[in-house]
Amino acid sequence: MAVVAEADVVVVGAGLAGLRCAHELERAGLDVVVLDREDAPGGRIRTAVVDGHLVDRGFQLLNPGYPAVRRWVDTAALDLHAFDAGVAARGADGVRRLGHPWHAPGLLPASVRAVAGSVPGTLGLLRWAAPLLTPGRGSLGRRLAARPDATLAASLDAAGVGGLPRTVLDRFLAGVLLEDAGASSAQYARLLVSSFLQATPALPRDGMEALPRQLAARLSGPVRTGVEVEAVERSTGSGGPRVRTAGGEYVARAVVVATAAPGAEALLGVPAPASHGVVTEWYSTTEPPAPRDRARLLHVDGRGRPHGPLVNAAVMSAAAPSYAPPGRHLIGASALLGPDRPVPSAAMHDHAGELLGSDPRGWELLRRDEVPHALPAQEPPLTLTRPTDLGDGVFVAGDHRDTASIQGALVSGHRAATAVRRAIGGAA
Ligand SMILES: Cc1cc2nc3c(=O)[nH]c(=O)nc-3n(C[C@H](O)[C@H](O)[C@H](O)COP(=O)(O)OP(=O)(O)OC[C@H]3O[C@@H](n4cnc5c(N)ncnc54)[C@H](O)[C@@H]3O)c2cc1C
Repeated sequence: MAVVAEADVVVVGAGLAGLRCAHELERAGLDVVVLDREDAPGGRIRTAVVDGHLVDRGFQLLNPGYPAVRRWVDTAALDLHAFDAGVAARGADGVRRLGHPWHAPGLLPASVRAVAGSVPGTLGLLRWAAPLLTPGRGSLGRRLAARPDATLAASLDAAGVGGLPRTVLDRFLAGVLLEDAGASSAQYARLLVSSFLQATPALPRDGMEALPRQLAARLSGPVRTGVEVEAVERSTGSGGPRVRTAGGEYVARAVVVATAAPGAEALLGVPAPASHGVVTEWYSTTEPPAPRDRARLLHVDGRGRPHGPLVNAAVMSAAAPSYAPPGRHLIGASALLGPDRPVPSAAMHDHAGELLGSDPRGWELLRRDEVPHALPAQEPPLTLTRPTDLGDGVFVAGDHRDTASIQGALVSGHRAATAVRRAIGGAA
């Protein structure tokens, strides 16, 4: 097979992990080629322009409090627009607003009123969150990972989290973990809650794809897009690992497979964890779709039995006006996706109208994004890192090697780069 290019390192996949890895390797003076089968870098973080609206591929937010984001992302250049730090929960008798006591002090009276009828459940929530307040040495993640773990549902039951705080936390976390059975790691859920307590998630002015675009722009050359890798051959005694594509072979001293988990399983045989899917519908309207005092909140169904399939709905353009053209508003509504979980568009649309407190009949559906493998499952026990050096010049990166998040993807790419440098050194 013809050799297309030779490089020190070939990185397969230009999501956050691959981009972070490639940049770190270039900084070490290595010659790096990045391949991706899509038409642009970004992986699971892409943004399309639809009739002048910025439509992300599935509802997604950037938490500027993630340590990896603080370290490797120029958030000022992204011009972040934050939501308000709280949720609006649709109950049987109206909407209750709950907010972060410091980041949204204006919501304090409403929050106190909302939980006044659930004192035992609120005390349970404080008990559940207590490990976040316990000081100790090392990062919070390491401390939580060192503790016994359980499923999220079992830990909330054990702490006595009930009433409205339980319903709201369940719905909020279902939208973050993309599962509503409470099967995720309780310690991971605590870590996520801590990241939301530290900073308020936001949208870049130019859409979520501005994040991978920024990382890609730091590379010395363009990502080679539209190149699907068919196989990765480990190094033999006489030569380095090789990457096979329809157009020919890439020869390198090391190969980093930075695809999502199913890709790593197909190319390297690394077992993929179960994954969770999500479907997001994007609507445009000319009328403000939510009252002003809750337009910038995340909207969830706060009833014991939700009245529809949505885990959340949000008015994107209320947080980031650039998401809609003048005179229009952009709404994102998301539901969990699974093989035995049909999510009809009509049910999403009606539920979104109900959660926002608005008549949705005039809303225009711009796009429906179904993302079956949105996130790797994060079941107990909490495992923060999995091996990245598979030997014979082959390395693996991606959110499935660390935590299922932007934070995890960036850290995993960095870890893979460190492992490659350890194995092959700096520039040849
Ligand atoms: C809808 C949705 C909402 C989310 N919400 C949040 C959120 O709010 N906060 C948060 O922290 N995280 C969120 N996430 C998770 C976060 O986006 C991911 O964890 C992260 O982007 C994963 O990056 P990655 O580099 O590991 O993988 P990916 O982004 O999947 O990148 C892998 C790349 O590999 C390429 N590739 C795969 N196979 C091949 C092949 N054979 N040949 C060539 N190229 C290949 C793909 O095209 C892709 O570009 C969300 C994800 C989704 C989908």
